[in-house]
Amino acid sequence: LEEAGWRVLAEPVVADRDYPPVARSIRDGYAVRSQDLPGRLRVVAELRAGQSYNRPVGPGEAVAIMTGAPVPEGADQVVMVEYTTQSGAEIITDRPPRPGEFINPQGSEARKGEVLLEPGVRLDYSRIALLAMVGKQRVKVYRRPLVAILPTGDEVVPVDVEPSPYQVRNSNAYSLATQVARQGGLPWVVGIAPDTYDATRQLLEQALQADLILLSGGVSMGKYDLVKDVLRDLGAELYFDHVLIQPGYPTVFGRVRGKFFFGLPGNPVSTMVTFKLFAQAALQTLEGERQLELPLLPARLTAPFRHQTGRTRFWPARLSADGTEVTPLRWQGSSDVVAVARANVFLVADADRQEWQAGETIRVLLK
Ligand code: AMP
Ligand code: MG
Repeated sequence: LEEAGWRVLAEPVVADRDYPPVARSIRDGYAVRSQDLPGRLRVVAELRAGQSYNRPVGPGEAVAIMTGAPVPEGADQVVMVEYTTQSGAEIITDRPPRPGEFINPQGSEARKGEVLLEPGVRLDYSRIALLAMVGKQRVKVYRRPLVAILPTGDEVVPVDVEPSPYQVRNSNAYSLATQVARQGGLPWVVGIAPDTYDATRQLLEQALQADLILLSGGVSMGKYDLVKDVLRDLGAELYFDHVLIQPGYPTVFGRVRGKFFFGLPGNPVSTMVTFKLFAQAALQTLEGERQLELPLLPARLTAPFRHQTGRTRFWPARLSADGTEVTPLRWQGSSDVVAVARANVFLVADADRQEWQAGETIRVLLK
């Protein structure tokens, strides 16, 4: 149970008893017979959470009761302590009869044997609480998929190497590893593939040991974009090789030797966005998760926004703390990680609309 947080459940979880197992008070007050209300009642006992009382509440009687304590037999209403005045061993209340008020009946939250969680749900804190509640100390979850990350490009150098002005440090391996880990996968950076057929092929063959393969770079139309050649020679099936979005147009998805792979465009922001839009769902599916969500939320623009139609555009932006207003950031395009690092959302500009005025609603994708 301690290790199960944020893993994906692989078995149904059922209620081991009724919830609540007995009728319980949901207020501090007095358990009474509703037909005695309003009126003057004699307090015959006091009941705390964890205690039980095995004498029925009789006519004209009240039992002082604390939140969570079992409601004694005979009582069918709880009067909050705030609505009573005490006079010696008696209380006086002007509350009208309301049978059932402030009582959680036995089995009202769940019945014994009822399925409370289906396989395929991610075990968030409330579901972990549920497992603890029903006494499940050991729980079956799905294995975390191993995700191979294979950056490509002659110009890409490891982060501990001082790059020449013509080189870039390998940031994609780090953004992808972070995205993979956050989604529950086990990231494995295979190595940087230089732009030669043999090296790319050799590293890709290694990567085939993983459950999912994420290549970055080398998938667009350049002369040295070899990834697709290597994949084809390994017998890969391609399901799609471009998407009408910006950034991320040349995204490739397919299967090679039984393993799914994505060829993500190498520009750092393209890699981030296409992971989020496509690879994340694939990873979640491999993890056994059944209900995938990628909410696009509406927000009001604080400034006008325009773009070229034809592709759905993902633009770094700041969503206000209350989630109602969004401000597009200055952004130089797919290589501009600086702007994305300042953003907390991507604004989502529909492919078929050119402009929005300040104050109009647009959708955002949480980073
Ligand atoms: P490509 O998709 O291979 O044409 O790469 C597009 C751009 O992304 C180039 O400017 C690359 O230098 C850059 N790029 C490719 N791979 C990486 C990486 N691993 N880290 C940072 N930038 C990269
Ligand atoms: Mg390249």
